Amino acid sequence: MRQRIFRSFAILIIVAIVLTFAAMEYISYQEAYANTRSWAEEDAELLAEYIEEYGVEAVNDSTAGIIQGRVTLIASDGTVLYDSDEDSSVMENHLERPEVQDAFETGYGSATRQSATFGSQTYYYAYRTAVTTEDYDEEGLTSAADTTTGTYVIRISRTMDTVIGEVLSRLGVAGALIIILILLELLLARSVTGRIVEPINSINLANPKSEPVYEELDPLLSRIELQNNQIRMQMDELKQTDIIRRDFTANVSHELKTPLMSISGYAELIENGLAKEEDIPEFASRIHSESVRLKNLVEDIIRLSSLEDKERRRNEESVDLYEIGEEVIQTLTPYADEQGVKLDFSGEHVTVLASKQVIFEMIYNLVDNAIKYNRDGGSAALTIEERDGRHVIEVIDTGIGIAEEDQDRVFERFYRVDKSHSRETGGTGLGLSIVKHAAALYGADVSIISKLNLGTKVEVTFPAKI
Ligand code: ADP
Repeated sequence: MRQRIFRSFAILIIVAIVLTFAAMEYISYQEAYANTRSWAEEDAELLAEYIEEYGVEAVNDSTAGIIQGRVTLIASDGTVLYDSDEDSSVMENHLERPEVQDAFETGYGSATRQSATFGSQTYYYAYRTAVTTEDYDEEGLTSAADTTTGTYVIRISRTMDTVIGEVLSRLGVAGALIIILILLELLLARSVTGRIVEPINSINLANPKSEPVYEELDPLLSRIELQNNQIRMQMDELKQTDIIRRDFTANVSHELKTPLMSISGYAELIENGLAKEEDIPEFASRIHSESVRLKNLVEDIIRLSSLEDKERRRNEESVDLYEIGEEVIQTLTPYADEQGVKLDFSGEHVTVLASKQVIFEMIYNLVDNAIKYNRDGGSAALTIEERDGRHVIEVIDTGIGIAEEDQDRVFERFYRVDKSHSRETGGTGLGLSIVKHAAALYGADVSIISKLNLGTKVEVTFPAKI
């Protein structure tokens, strides 16, 4: 970049300097040309007056000597009567010269012709004048006898440089000056380039907006900052996922170990003959219930890990939430009766694009919790409905409720507010976690509102048009 800026600067400077010189040369040439013209005109008119007053003899070497340039006097037949630079007697007839012709016809004429010398040109100005004897008789200023009366043209010619000639004549000094100026400017350009590039080089890419650089770079720096933040967030997420995974593994082994230990404990007692005859049915029943718990746990773990795989939105079909709700209610009615909880079901047929199995598990877990964490004589109600174009599963119970500080945590894996109660009722601590992951699979929101000892409301809201 530094190279590029410097190169652009250099080209700009060289072009600017050369153009400035060219413009100055042109202006000075124009001025010189205008001066040459006006001086030649003035001189010609002056000499014409002189001739009118003193006759043609007045044009001679001494009068021509005070005039800058060449003086030529031409008679009306084109004969050169006098020339300050050459012998007039050997000079050719001048009637054909355009400026002379114009002067005889209109009173004056001018022409610019290339000189024999390269780079110079000659400006000719011809002016008509007339000599009459009367003038001499009246004025008596000169010997009228010598004076030839008639019409004459006095011509002044001045040689000057052409534009090219002017440039060439000054090339030495101007060239040296141009080179010095260019070198100085290039040095300046180098330091300016350095100063432009320096802030860009010193941008702290880890924290690009820590110091202001150039306004124009703001969008780029903002993008870098955004990317940095995204990378940071992704790293945090990865770390978080790693922590969760490690916690989960530790929890799983702990959760599995507990029922396994009691199973192996009871079995060992029976095996060693240490269990009394009358205790054996009780031990067998405990082994049975712990096995069921183990089975539930393994099933929930498998379910959860399959839900976590977000890419796996398999077996999707149009699922009627109301129909699934009905199935869940049927399945759980015996359990609700057993718990002394009244089950209500209401709503409308609404469909979502999802896996039947996953939706069943989601509603099952919510209604199961509403019965499990209820009180004798309490009630649980499932409603399926559409609200503002969004399909909603709502489960309300009049149960024990969840304290505010636990409300966020109940969605964590294996989190239970009351461990012993959950265990007694066969809970695995994974139910709400499964609900949350299942909802996430279809972009649905899960919200919980609960009041301790009053009840809980859980809502799963699907996004519009699923
Ligand atoms: P569990 O298998 O223990 O029911 P969940 O993940 O389904 O696990 O629930 C986590 C915890 O949240 C439960 O142990 C319970 O303490 C609490 N909980 C869940 N649903 C309700 C509810 N409807 N009323 C009161 N507490 C609830």
